Amino acid sequence: MTNFILENVINKIKKNIIQESKLDSVINKIYRDIIKNFKIKNNFVENYYFERANDYADIKLKCKFIRDKEFNYPFSISANAEFDNMEIEITYRPQDFPKNMVNLTAEVKETITHEIEHIGQHNFEDMYIIPKKYESYIEYLTSPEEVSAYVKGLIERARFKRISFNDSMQEWFEENINNFENPTKQWPKVKKTWLDYANKMREKNKVKKFN
Ligand SMILES: [Zn+2]
Repeated sequence: MTNFILENVINKIKKNIIQESKLDSVINKIYRDIIKNFKIKNNFVENYYFERANDYADIKLKCKFIRDKEFNYPFSISANAEFDNMEIEITYRPQDFPKNMVNLTAEVKETITHEIEHIGQHNFEDMYIIPKKYESYIEYLTSPEEVSAYVKGLIERARFKRISFNDSMQEWFEENINNFENPTKQWPKVKKTWLDYANKMREKNKVKKFN
Protein backbone atom coordinates (compact mmCIF):
# COMPACT_ATOMS: atom_id res chain seq x y z
CA MET A 1 0.00 0.00 0.00
CA THR A 2 2.69 2.49 1.06
CA ASN A 3 4.78 1.54 -1.95
CA PHE A 4 1.86 2.06 -4.24
CA ILE A 5 1.26 5.58 -2.92
CA LEU A 6 4.95 6.40 -3.09
CA GLU A 7 5.11 5.16 -6.65
CA ASN A 8 2.22 7.42 -7.58
CA VAL A 9 3.94 10.40 -6.02
CA ILE A 10 7.18 9.62 -7.84
CA ASN A 11 5.38 9.25 -11.16
CA LYS A 12 3.66 12.56 -10.64
CA ILE A 13 6.96 14.28 -9.89
CA LYS A 14 8.61 12.68 -12.93
CA LYS A 15 5.75 13.87 -15.10
CA ASN A 16 6.15 17.43 -13.80
CA ILE A 17 9.86 17.42 -14.62
CA ILE A 18 9.15 16.21 -18.16
CA GLN A 19 6.46 18.90 -18.62
CA GLU A 20 8.78 21.71 -17.49
CA SER A 21 11.61 20.49 -19.71
CA LYS A 22 9.23 20.56 -22.70
CA LEU A 23 8.48 24.24 -22.02
CA ASP A 24 12.23 24.91 -21.68
CA SER A 25 12.99 23.28 -24.99
CA VAL A 26 10.39 25.32 -26.90
CA ILE A 27 11.65 28.51 -25.20
CA ASN A 28 15.20 27.65 -26.29
CA LYS A 29 14.15 26.90 -29.84
CA ILE A 30 12.22 30.17 -30.22
CA TYR A 31 14.87 32.40 -28.74
CA ARG A 32 17.61 30.81 -30.86
CA ASP A 33 15.51 31.36 -34.01
CA ILE A 34 15.03 35.02 -33.07
CA ILE A 35 18.75 35.63 -32.46
CA LYS A 36 19.73 33.76 -35.63
CA ASN A 37 17.33 35.88 -37.71
CA PHE A 38 18.27 39.11 -35.93
CA LYS A 39 21.87 38.61 -37.06
CA ILE A 40 20.76 38.59 -40.71
CA LYS A 41 17.88 41.06 -40.08
CA ASN A 42 15.31 38.69 -41.46
CA ASN A 43 11.69 39.21 -40.36
CA PHE A 44 10.06 35.82 -40.06
CA VAL A 45 6.93 33.84 -39.27
CA GLU A 46 7.29 30.37 -37.76
CA ASN A 47 5.07 27.73 -36.16
CA TYR A 48 5.96 25.86 -32.98
CA TYR A 49 4.15 22.78 -31.76
CA PHE A 50 4.47 21.38 -28.26
CA GLU A 51 2.57 19.10 -25.94
CA ARG A 52 1.89 19.06 -22.24
CA ALA A 53 -0.02 16.24 -20.51
CA ASN A 54 -3.02 15.64 -22.81
CA ASP A 55 -3.02 19.13 -24.30
CA TYR A 56 -1.06 20.69 -27.10
CA ALA A 57 -0.23 24.17 -28.34
CA ASP A 58 0.46 25.04 -31.93
CA ILE A 59 1.62 28.61 -31.94
CA LYS A 60 2.43 31.03 -34.69
CA LEU A 61 5.25 33.47 -34.02
CA LYS A 62 5.59 36.69 -35.99
CA CYS A 63 8.92 38.37 -35.48
CA LYS A 64 9.86 41.78 -36.83
CA PHE A 65 13.08 43.81 -36.62
CA ILE A 66 12.92 47.59 -36.91
CA ARG A 67 16.06 49.56 -37.65
CA ASP A 68 16.12 53.07 -36.17
CA LYS A 69 19.34 55.09 -36.13
CA GLU A 70 17.75 57.82 -33.98
CA PHE A 71 16.31 55.48 -31.34
CA ASN A 72 16.92 56.59 -27.72
CA TYR A 73 18.12 53.12 -26.56
CA PRO A 74 20.37 50.47 -28.13
CA PHE A 75 17.26 48.27 -28.45
CA SER A 76 13.76 47.69 -27.19
CA ILE A 77 11.62 44.54 -27.33
CA SER A 78 7.85 44.55 -27.38
CA ALA A 79 5.97 41.26 -27.14
CA ASN A 80 2.47 39.95 -26.95
CA ALA A 81 1.04 36.43 -26.66
CA GLU A 82 -2.51 35.21 -26.80
CA PHE A 83 -3.82 31.65 -27.23
CA ASP A 84 -1.82 30.50 -30.24
CA ASN A 85 -0.29 33.73 -31.48
CA MET A 86 2.88 35.41 -30.40
CA GLU A 87 4.26 38.68 -31.74
CA ILE A 88 7.71 40.07 -31.12
CA GLU A 89 9.02 43.40 -32.34
CA ILE A 90 12.61 44.41 -31.79
CA THR A 91 13.57 48.01 -32.47
CA TYR A 92 17.32 48.49 -32.60
CA ARG A 93 19.92 51.17 -33.16
CA PRO A 94 22.27 49.64 -35.76
CA GLN A 95 25.40 51.47 -34.57
CA ASP A 96 25.10 49.65 -31.18
CA PHE A 97 25.46 46.17 -32.67
CA PRO A 98 27.07 43.67 -32.32
CA LYS A 99 28.30 45.43 -29.14
CA ASN A 100 24.93 44.85 -27.40
CA MET A 101 24.38 41.28 -28.57
CA VAL A 102 24.71 39.68 -25.10
CA ASN A 103 22.22 42.11 -23.56
CA LEU A 104 19.79 41.58 -26.41
CA THR A 105 20.08 37.78 -26.11
CA ALA A 106 19.40 37.96 -22.36
CA GLU A 107 16.31 40.11 -22.86
CA VAL A 108 14.97 37.97 -25.72
CA LYS A 109 15.25 34.88 -23.53
CA GLU A 110 13.53 36.60 -20.60
CA THR A 111 10.75 37.89 -22.88
CA ILE A 112 10.12 34.50 -24.53
CA THR A 113 10.01 32.78 -21.11
CA HIS A 114 7.42 35.35 -20.00
CA GLU A 115 5.29 34.99 -23.15
CA ILE A 116 5.45 31.16 -23.24
CA GLU A 117 4.08 31.19 -19.68
CA HIS A 118 1.03 33.08 -21.02
CA ILE A 119 0.72 30.65 -23.95
CA GLY A 120 0.76 27.84 -21.36
CA GLN A 121 -1.91 29.56 -19.26
CA HIS A 122 -4.15 29.85 -22.34
CA ASN A 123 -3.59 26.33 -23.70
CA PHE A 124 -2.79 23.93 -20.87
CA GLU A 125 -5.24 22.84 -18.21
CA ASP A 126 -2.65 22.52 -15.44
CA MET A 127 -1.39 26.08 -16.06
CA TYR A 128 -4.79 27.69 -16.54
CA ILE A 129 -5.50 30.88 -14.61
CA ILE A 130 -8.83 32.66 -14.70
CA PRO A 131 -8.17 35.94 -16.51
CA LYS A 132 -8.98 39.12 -14.62
CA LYS A 133 -9.23 42.75 -15.57
CA TYR A 134 -6.86 45.14 -13.86
CA GLU A 135 -7.46 48.73 -12.87
CA SER A 136 -3.86 49.79 -12.37
CA TYR A 137 -0.26 48.94 -13.24
CA ILE A 138 0.24 47.49 -9.73
CA GLU A 139 -2.84 45.27 -10.05
CA TYR A 140 -1.49 44.08 -13.40
CA LEU A 141 1.98 43.30 -11.98
CA THR A 142 0.53 41.39 -9.03
CA SER A 143 -2.17 39.47 -10.93
CA PRO A 144 -1.65 35.67 -10.90
CA GLU A 145 -1.03 35.46 -14.69
CA GLU A 146 1.61 38.17 -14.62
CA VAL A 147 3.27 37.07 -11.37
CA SER A 148 4.14 33.63 -12.76
CA ALA A 149 5.23 35.12 -16.10
CA TYR A 150 7.39 37.90 -14.58
CA VAL A 151 8.98 35.59 -11.99
CA LYS A 152 9.89 32.94 -14.57
CA GLY A 153 11.24 35.61 -16.93
CA LEU A 154 13.32 37.19 -14.15
CA ILE A 155 14.68 33.81 -13.01
CA GLU A 156 15.82 33.36 -16.62
CA ARG A 157 17.51 36.79 -16.52
CA ALA A 158 19.28 35.85 -13.26
CA ARG A 159 20.50 32.54 -14.73
CA PHE A 160 21.69 34.11 -17.96
CA LYS A 161 23.54 37.00 -16.28
CA ARG A 162 24.67 34.88 -13.31
CA ILE A 163 23.19 37.31 -10.82
CA SER A 164 20.84 36.72 -7.87
CA PHE A 165 17.07 36.77 -8.26
CA ASN A 166 17.05 39.85 -6.04
CA ASP A 167 19.46 41.71 -8.36
CA SER A 168 17.45 40.58 -11.36
CA MET A 169 14.27 42.11 -9.82
CA GLN A 170 16.20 45.29 -8.92
CA GLU A 171 17.43 45.67 -12.52
CA TRP A 172 13.89 45.23 -13.81
CA PHE A 173 12.60 47.84 -11.35
CA GLU A 174 15.20 50.40 -12.44
CA GLU A 175 14.32 49.82 -16.10
CA ASN A 176 10.60 50.23 -15.41
CA ILE A 177 10.60 52.82 -12.62
CA ASN A 178 8.85 55.41 -14.80
CA ASN A 179 5.76 53.22 -15.10
CA PHE A 180 5.13 53.48 -11.36
CA GLU A 181 3.09 56.36 -9.95
CA ASN A 182 4.74 56.08 -6.57
CA PRO A 183 7.74 53.74 -6.92
CA THR A 184 9.01 53.89 -3.32
CA LYS A 185 5.62 52.92 -1.96
CA GLN A 186 4.48 50.52 -4.69
CA TRP A 187 7.63 48.60 -5.63
CA PRO A 188 8.09 46.83 -2.22
CA LYS A 189 4.56 45.42 -2.58
CA VAL A 190 5.21 44.06 -6.09
CA LYS A 191 8.62 42.75 -5.08
CA LYS A 192 7.18 40.89 -2.09
CA THR A 193 4.49 39.23 -4.24
CA TRP A 194 7.11 38.11 -6.78
CA LEU A 195 9.53 36.91 -4.10
CA ASP A 196 6.80 34.88 -2.35
CA TYR A 197 5.93 33.20 -5.65
CA ALA A 198 9.62 32.48 -6.41
CA ASN A 199 10.03 30.91 -2.97
CA LYS A 200 6.98 28.74 -3.53
CA MET A 201 8.50 27.59 -6.84
CA ARG A 202 11.80 26.87 -5.10
CA GLU A 203 10.02 24.67 -2.54
CA LYS A 204 8.41 22.72 -5.38
CA ASN A 205 11.80 22.24 -7.04
CA LYS A 206 13.34 21.00 -3.81
CA VAL A 207 10.75 18.23 -3.74
CA LYS A 208 11.60 17.36 -7.34
CA LYS A 209 15.30 16.97 -6.52
CA PHE A 210 14.57 14.10 -4.11
CA ASN A 211 13.88 11.95 -7.08
ZN1 LIG B 1 2.63 39.25 -19.30
